[in-house]
Amino acid sequence: MSEEPTSGRTRQLPVFHCPYCGDEDLTPHEDSGWRCSACLRAFSVRLIATGVQG
Ligand SMILES: [Zn+2]
Repeated sequence: MSEEPTSGRTRQLPVFHCPYCGDEDLTPHEDSGWRCSACLRAFSVRLIATGVQG
């Protein structure tokens, strides 16, 4: 018997994968970066545009 709510009301964080090895074990690195615990690469993610159309 499952007790987990499956009504879709729970908001999940977006799944983010390491762009180099695809692992999901990422930890914050410095200011705006992430470090992959699998391949030990550190990288940054930067928003360059929004969905607003001009
Ligand atoms: Zn990686």
